[in-house]
Order: sequence, then C-alpha cells, then structure tokens
Amino acid sequence: MKKVVVTGAGGFIGGHLVQKLKETGHQVRAVDIKPMTRWYQIIPGVENQVLDLRIRENCMQALEGIEDVFNLAADMGGMGFIETHKADCMLSVLINTHLLMAARDLGVQRYFYSSSACVYNGEKQTDPDNPGLKESDAYPALAEDGYGWEKLFSERMCRHFTEDFGLITRVARFHNVYGPFGTYDGGREKAPAAICRKVIEGELYGKKEIIIWGDGHQTRSFMYIDDCIRGILDIMASDIEEPINLGSAEMVSINQLVDYVEGIADHRLERKYDLDAPRGVRGRNSDNTLIRQYLGWEPSIPLKEGLKKTYDWIKEQMIGNKGKDSDDVVFNKY
Ligand code: NAD
Repeated sequence: MKKVVVTGAGGFIGGHLVQKLKETGHQVRAVDIKPMTRWYQIIPGVENQVLDLRIRENCMQALEGIEDVFNLAADMGGMGFIETHKADCMLSVLINTHLLMAARDLGVQRYFYSSSACVYNGEKQTDPDNPGLKESDAYPALAEDGYGWEKLFSERMCRHFTEDFGLITRVARFHNVYGPFGTYDGGREKAPAAICRKVIEGELYGKKEIIIWGDGHQTRSFMYIDDCIRGILDIMASDIEEPINLGSAEMVSINQLVDYVEGIADHRLERKYDLDAPRGVRGRNSDNTLIRQYLGWEPSIPLKEGLKKTYDWIKEQMIGNKGKDSDDVVFNKY
C-alpha cells in the first residue's frame, strides 16, 4: 500500500479515483484548486489540500512524502469550454510542468498523466465512420487547438523526464469519460451530461425542444467512469512507456446518444440543430488494439447501462437543487 496523491481530486475523474484508491487501502492525499464545498466527492480518511498547482511551491507541498502521483488537474471542460478558453486550457501546462519538477526533486516513484483523445490529428477525424484512432495517429501533430496542444506537449514532457531524469511516467489518452459526480451544468459539461440535463429539463419543466450542437451526425465513443478508473490503475501499474488509448470503441452519433437518453427517460423532445455551436471533430473513436494486447483491458459497461446511472444521478441533483440560486448549483466555477 502506497502514499499517493491525486490532483484534480475535487473534479469528476479525480473524485472517483480517490474513492477507489482509499477503498483499496492506500494512504491518499487529494488536491484541488476549488474550495472544498465545490468538490464532487469528499472521501473520509483522506488528507485534503486546496492548492493552485500552477504554482511550483504548491506542487512541492502537494508531493511532500508521496510515492506515486496521479495528475488529473486541468482547466478543462466540454467543447463549449475548450473552444472558447484556449489560453486557459494551455495554462494547465504549468500544472504538469511544476508537478513533474516536484516529482523529480522529491524522488517520486511513479507519475501518471491524464492526456486526451484531443491530441489526435484533426485531419484523421473528418469522417463520421472513424475506424478508431491508433496511438500513432497523434503524429504528424495537428491536435485540437489550445487544449489538445497542451496535452501533447505535456505528454512529451513526461517522456523526457523519463529519459533525462529516470522518473517513471505513465500516460493515458482518455476518450470521453462520463458518469455520476461530474459537471452537468454551468458551461464545462460534456455531451452525455449535457444531453441528460436537457432531457430532464424537458421532463421537469415541460420544455418541448432540445437544442443539439451541430447536425447530430458527428460521432464519438464514451467510456463509463468505472472502466476509466480500472484502466488508470492498470496503466499506472504496467510497464507501458508510451501514451496509450483509454476509451470505449462503441461509437455512436450524437443523435443516437439523444435517442438513448430519451429512451431511458421515456420522454421525446423536438430536435433543433444549432449549426453555429461548437461541435469539435466530425468523427472520433478509440482503437483499443494496444491496450487489449498489453493489459487485456476492455470496457465492461455498455453505453446504455452507464447512461442510465448518469441520468439517474443528474436527475436526483436537479430535483435536489430546485430553488437554489445558480451559484450553488454550478460546482465547477472557481
Ligand atoms: P474536471 O474538470 O472535473 O476535473 C479537473 C479538476 O482539476 C477540477 O476539479 C479543477 O478544479 C482542478 N484544477 C484545475 N486547475 C487546477 C489548478 N491550477 N490546481 C489544482 N487543481 C486544478 O475534469 P475531469 O473530467 O475529471 O478530467 C480529469 C483529467 O482528465 C483532466 O486532465 C482532463 O483533461 C482529462 N480528460 C478528461 C476527459 C473526460 O472526458 N472527462 C477526457 C480526456 C481527458
């Protein structure tokens, strides 16, 4: 059992990771910039710190006495956020840079970095029938502007810290992750949570229409949070030295995603398409050949099953939050 730190622990994936690491007997420190009242999950028995990890001294404090680092901290969100906050997204480079330097200086054993499918070359994502992005498709580099370039740069920084300083680093490229205890409102939410929220608004407030970003034919794959956490732990423990995909290969169009959520809710809405809204690449899917070969990892939770759990959680939150002012409901502002 190890002494580990999870950064971005007040966020969606970080919160679930802290929970799992604690459950499996590790000594866990959880760090985030947000005040703790805005963390999605606070796990008993965990040491919590509120720190801005863009600042180097704070990274030294966060990693003091730590064996393994899971870096999930980033200023990020769905397409609506990353297309309009490119500089903010790129400033996350300070978090990974200063954490790597602190990890090197404090003799950390292993360092996990959460990269993204947004590192992939945009020209390989113009067809909605995307056959699946292989790890090599990140080059020649033409990443998502802002957010994707920061991720690609940070991946390479991990690699060079291994080559030059011997720090063991592991890098996973997450493809859309969804599930309970994540953002569903406020501007940073991603498609599955946003669609659940819009359908629930239809149910609760009698709205008749749903606004869909783009023409609805763009495709993506979505990985349920439990599969993501299992993958993070497997990759961290592995000897995989190159960035590797961690995602589902069950590709659907956004229209299909809306069909699924409407099916769960048993509530249909009239679809309106906003062709001026941010919509990202045309088609994206994960090629899981490498992770299957190395780890035998496969996602275990089908999209419909994971969506039902997500939908139920968001509905519970929206009913519970009725009547509160918007500052109480928007968790992810800081
Ligand atoms: P999230 O926004 O819920 O969590 C990120 C957390 O980082 C937030 O709680 C935020 O407050 C914290 N943070 C931001 N700036 C910080 C700073 N300066 N110091 C300390 N903490 C700071 O996002 P998430 O979905 O949990 O994503 C976690 C990681 O996975 C991120 O690196 C993200 O880029 C990556 N990722 C996520 C997805 C996905 O679908 N959710 C896909 C690809 C990659």
